[in-house]
Amino acid sequence: MDKRYKVQVKDLHKSYGNNEVLQGINLNVAPNEVVCMIGPSGSGKSTFLRCLNRLEVPNSGHVYVDGYDIADPKVNINKVRENIGMVFQHFNLFPNMSVLENITLAPTQLGKASKEEAKRDAMHYLELVGLKSKADVTPQTLSGGQKQRVAIARALAMKPDVMLFDEPTSALDPEMVGDVLAVMKRLAKEGMTMIVVTHEMGFAKQMADRVVFFHDGNIREQGTPEKIFDHPQHPDTKNFLDKVL
Ligand code: ADP
Ligand code: MG
Repeated sequence: MDKRYKVQVKDLHKSYGNNEVLQGINLNVAPNEVVCMIGPSGSGKSTFLRCLNRLEVPNSGHVYVDGYDIADPKVNINKVRENIGMVFQHFNLFPNMSVLENITLAPTQLGKASKEEAKRDAMHYLELVGLKSKADVTPQTLSGGQKQRVAIARALAMKPDVMLFDEPTSALDPEMVGDVLAVMKRLAKEGMTMIVVTHEMGFAKQMADRVVFFHDGNIREQGTPEKIFDHPQHPDTKNFLDKVL
């Protein structure tokens, strides 16, 4: 384990039956770094993210987050998870609670904040995502893009050290995508450490410190956006970019 990194992954393997979905992944993410992960559907990107907070249990290898080996049975995985924000394609908001209650639930239940503090924080994060006026409505009255921004505010309310995004804009109508990406850009500029699985190549070009190309359960190639998008070296990378750009 190297203390310079927020996230350190060593030789990570994950199989479902005979299907080896992750075939030995190595990746280090530094504080404040924005890493964008691209690659074909089925290449293992979601499985990789889920291994980072142990929503999936790897077959072998190591994952360190904030210096904790999350495979170590002595490590309290729930405590580690409190510091890892995750935003999915589908927002999973609680439909019967207000937006404010969705955001304050975890911090208050986990004893991270008093009701008052949690409410103040929630309003701060709602302002950050541009939805302060929606605090008292229920999620069903919101558009998809608004729901996703609430989901981001909810993740931020836990004051995570790292944010993981799994295709956060893929389920949105095109006109909603920009607002969600704008929130993510703001987070990146404010120094949040982020790992973002995305099909938004424009976002990756503009915001990534590093682009990682996944293919068949391996990292084929990684580097700056210029290197990956303008000078890809591996035929699989070239082939993928030809299809999506
Ligand atoms: P990506 O996010 O890059 O599209 P995934 O990580 O979702 O890729 O999937 C990688 C492979 O793992 C696919 O072949 C998928 O079918 C398989 N897979 C993912 N989750 C499961 C699961 N829970 N059980 C069995 N196979 C799975
Ligand atoms: Mg996926």
